[in-house]
Amino acid sequence: MRTLTRSDAMAKPNHQPKRSWKFGGSNPPWAVTWLTWPILFTFNIGLALRAITQQWNYSSVLTALLITDVAVLVTLEFLFPVRRQWKMTWRSFFRDLKYIVAGGATFAVFDGLFGLASIRLNTGHVGPLTDWPLYLSVPAALLVVEFLNYSQHRWSHELNGALGNFLWRSHAAHHLPEQVYVLMHPASHPINGFIVRGLVTLLPLYYLGATPETVLLFSTIVTFQALISHCNVDIRAGWFNYVFVGTELHRFHHSANLSESKNYAVTLSFLDIIFGTFYYRPGSLPGRLGVVDPSAYPNSTDFWKVMMLPFEREVEQGFSSVPAADLR
Ligand SMILES: [Zn+2]
Ligand SMILES: [Zn+2]
Repeated sequence: MRTLTRSDAMAKPNHQPKRSWKFGGSNPPWAVTWLTWPILFTFNIGLALRAITQQWNYSSVLTALLITDVAVLVTLEFLFPVRRQWKMTWRSFFRDLKYIVAGGATFAVFDGLFGLASIRLNTGHVGPLTDWPLYLSVPAALLVVEFLNYSQHRWSHELNGALGNFLWRSHAAHHLPEQVYVLMHPASHPINGFIVRGLVTLLPLYYLGATPETVLLFSTIVTFQALISHCNVDIRAGWFNYVFVGTELHRFHHSANLSESKNYAVTLSFLDIIFGTFYYRPGSLPGRLGVVDPSAYPNSTDFWKVMMLPFEREVEQGFSSVPAADLR
């Protein structure tokens, strides 16, 4: 498939240039677009499998993979941003850093509180998946956790009432920025971090009796997909988008246009297909990112106001009188 160029868009004024670079951006070489996902995915899985056969320290392997993935993807973002206005800047990086630190601290607290630092504490814990071979236990763990995560994520966006409101206001921190790039992935409210990391990931893995090997492969896939799905580069995964949530899918989840902002799954996109929330337009980019009505929310740089968001009532905060569900 030939890549659309800026001149194509200009030559066809009536053609809605689906992936117009009119806002600035660059077309990466073919190899970057089509080979980044398969090469990095294979590298991640390959190293995790080698760690298992060689009995390496699993936590160190996960850290090494995280650093490698971030380094490669952030470099590509600076070389070939799909839209320059979505690029990470020093200002946006320091904004995100506060959320990342707050989220990271929450993860550490809840890991300790529930004793769920999974790789360490899953050692020796027995459950339904413990005796399963890896080729069954990893997909099973992914399915269970992804289903729970899909549910809470969809509720965060679509559920009305007090619970829906609270979930959305805890999740909104991830959607307030009008950009999407790799290091935005961990930027979230600690309450959302607790729900995603503690309630719907570590707790099920623990009770399923996932072995450290299962957790290593599970975490390798989930972390890699979460990072690459936020990458501000024209990375494509072709037919794999019907299995995994790639860059082309999650970018639309951040759209400010509610008809596009679907794709609630974080790792397994076929859950969106099954539940009717799949939005895939190959070669197309969302227009504006963020929330529908930014004026109804604190600015994402206003860290403490965003932290207080889950606890504020709309009238007191002076937010829009539009129901929260309509603002997402
Ligand atoms: Zn969301
Ligand atoms: Zn996201």
